[in-house]
Amino acid sequence: MLPVIALVGRPNVGKSTLFNRLTRTRDALVADFPGLTRDRKYGQASYDGFDFIVVDTGGIDGSEEGIETEMAEQSLLAIEEADVVLFLVDARAGMTVADQAIAQHLRKQEKKVFVVANKTDGIDADSNCAEFYQLAMGEVYQIAAAHGRGITGLLNSALQPVIEDLAKERQQLIDEDPFAAYDDEHQAQGEGEEGEQEELADKAIKLAIIGRPNVGKSTLTNRILGEERVIVYDMPGTTRDSIYIPMTRNDREYVLIDTAGVRKRKKVSDVVEKFSVIKTLKAIEDANVVLLVIDARTGISDQDLSLLGFALNAGRSLVLAVNKWDGLDSDVKDRIKSELDRRLGFVDFARIHFISALHGTGVGHLFESVEEAYDSATKRISTAMLRRIMDMAQADHQPPLVRGRRVKLKYAHAGGYNPPRIVIHGNQVHELPDSYKRYLMNYYRKALDIMGTPIKIEFREGD
Ligand code: GDP
Ligand code: GDP
Repeated sequence: MLPVIALVGRPNVGKSTLFNRLTRTRDALVADFPGLTRDRKYGQASYDGFDFIVVDTGGIDGSEEGIETEMAEQSLLAIEEADVVLFLVDARAGMTVADQAIAQHLRKQEKKVFVVANKTDGIDADSNCAEFYQLAMGEVYQIAAAHGRGITGLLNSALQPVIEDLAKERQQLIDEDPFAAYDDEHQAQGEGEEGEQEELADKAIKLAIIGRPNVGKSTLTNRILGEERVIVYDMPGTTRDSIYIPMTRNDREYVLIDTAGVRKRKKVSDVVEKFSVIKTLKAIEDANVVLLVIDARTGISDQDLSLLGFALNAGRSLVLAVNKWDGLDSDVKDRIKSELDRRLGFVDFARIHFISALHGTGVGHLFESVEEAYDSATKRISTAMLRRIMDMAQADHQPPLVRGRRVKLKYAHAGGYNPPRIVIHGNQVHELPDSYKRYLMNYYRKALDIMGTPIKIEFREGD
């Protein structure tokens, strides 16, 4: 369970600067959701030992009439769903009317809010910040986002208690839960020790069904649940959490992570759950395999690509379902397929299924790919095998010369799994062109028969 921090404040106080600093170590995870949100940014952050999701709610200018209507729905939702709100103000500009309006709005939210005075570099910070105590929102934290000053202290105060609460909450759920098979503690992430492989085979596969609003997530979830014996136990969760539904399929245990909130609704036609990017992010983080649903009727959107980016960067296994495949003309189908080829080349490891959740067509086959992806991601591969494949790849196609010297791969070993990581040692390996890295990855993928999961190759200089 990752804590969520929302950054709130009027324009120009330094929200993006702070956002970038917080997400820098994992900056590839930053994604915009154009259209859906007024250029809100969501990112996975890792800062000074803290892991969390950060949302730059941006664009609130408290001077408008009726702040609620002016704020994008996702910004409001982000504040609602956040564990902590960082309310940024500008220490140089001093208090403004807009700050007061935002404060008033936040006070109504019953949220844990921290007032953060930014740009305290090169000024008499204490006297400049004094007036922000008038907001009556407690301590005023002094930072200089541009210089990384004060951030660790702020996170210690803002996040530590939340993390402890979340851990307690989670422990309670596990204590109450007869199907604690998806307890994170035992999920393999990385190490890849002997013996763990067998243990993994017994674990429930956590499958997150994600996608934009209206692509058919609920319909698909209902279809899956309708066909299967569902162990009638819904993981209790708050409104901002997905519902966890244990089920079995083909003799394997699953926990469906339902981001569409199906089990809470009686029928698909009941009030549709608000699409929440945060909920989706958390589901991806918690899943072993991500099933991304795309709507054949609308084609691939930027939001689909953003969601894919999240899944990819989290290193999750992936299966794609192109839904609403029923009743389409064959020329339309061809057009969609060529669009998929063109735009989804970067996730060519993922199987694509064409389904109709409404009619149930193709739904059964999805699970073959989900299983394959999970097994691929958790497969244990011996050093001898990795080394042999490396030698074969090198013999088939030599690495290039760099400044007159041939790059030489010497040794390979496993660096972990879920997703599989391969470490290759050699001379000048950092000079390897991307094309050769891609060649190696594809070679490993074929030789090891790994499908549905990204493979990460790390290169190290020397033996
Ligand atoms: P946003 O509109 O709230 O996202 O604000 P930005 O992050 O875009 O920052 C607005 C301006 O403030 C930019 O010119 C930043 O370089 C500047 N800025 C941000 N943080 C600091 C800081 O810690 N000190 C100083 N002196 N300037 C800063
Ligand atoms: P969600 O917002 O992603 O959960 O989407 P829903 O499951 O609520 O579906 C949105 C709309 O698409 C509903 O009107 C569904 O009946 C319709 N729909 C879902 N799956 C299919 C499908 O396979 N074919 C067709 N033609 N319509 C579908």
